[in-house]
Amino acid sequence: MITKQDIIAKARTKGRTILTEIESKELIKQAGISVSETVLATSKEEAVALSQRLGFPAVLKVASPDVVHKSDAGGVKLGLKTASQVGKAYDDILKAIRREYPQASIQGVSVQKMAPPGVEVIIGMSKDPQFGPVLMFGLGGILVEILKDVSFRIVPLVRRDAAEMIKEIKGYPLLESFRGQEPADVPHLEELLLKLSDFVEQRPEIKEIDLNPIFAYSRGSIAVDARVILEEASQ
Ligand code: ADP
Ligand code: MG
Repeated sequence: MITKQDIIAKARTKGRTILTEIESKELIKQAGISVSETVLATSKEEAVALSQRLGFPAVLKVASPDVVHKSDAGGVKLGLKTASQVGKAYDDILKAIRREYPQASIQGVSVQKMAPPGVEVIIGMSKDPQFGPVLMFGLGGILVEILKDVSFRIVPLVRRDAAEMIKEIKGYPLLESFRGQEPADVPHLEELLLKLSDFVEQRPEIKEIDLNPIFAYSRGSIAVDARVILEEASQ
């Protein structure tokens, strides 16, 4: 099993502070947060074999520490239903990234299963120069990007902070009933915030965490994207 230290140490030996999606998910999983199982393919054949093992529909994404916004650059392909769609997606992703980011070092393509639709939420951690680690909660998509409908609390959080930060966003009604779906599991989301708060306290070498999005379900959740940034090695 890969340990937290191995993931961080490996990135550091390569002089990187930005972890890839795969490394970030590995680390976040160890905080007790569910992530979509994500495996690296370094060839088209491997991507096809992995998607067959993980199950269709599959998702392919560029795996590169130099590409932060993967979908903007044509680096994410969703809902791939067959081996031939996976093979084509592999080629298309590499072509798009080489065009958009000619300098990027590409590790390969990550393969994961398409998660069932849920309410998209975002949980993040950043460090305030005065208050130290702060957690952020919001609903995914335009609510965060355009309306900045997010809430913040300083680490460490207690249960009441977690409950309040979920309830105080304007989009909260979407968690109670979204397009006629069952309500999202709010106590579970509170638990996620508390787990992340604990994790962040134990890991001062982490500078930033971005779980964007997490699909929230009527029971549980799955983080389908993750990005972790480390502090510079000297700290
Ligand atoms: P980006 O680097 O652009 O943020 P993401 O990994 O977040 O890339 O993928 C873009 C979008 O694709 C997500 O916001 C989500 O809606 C969808 N997505 C990503 N991974 C999955 C998955 N495993 N299952 C279902 N949808 C996914
Ligand atoms: Mg994302």
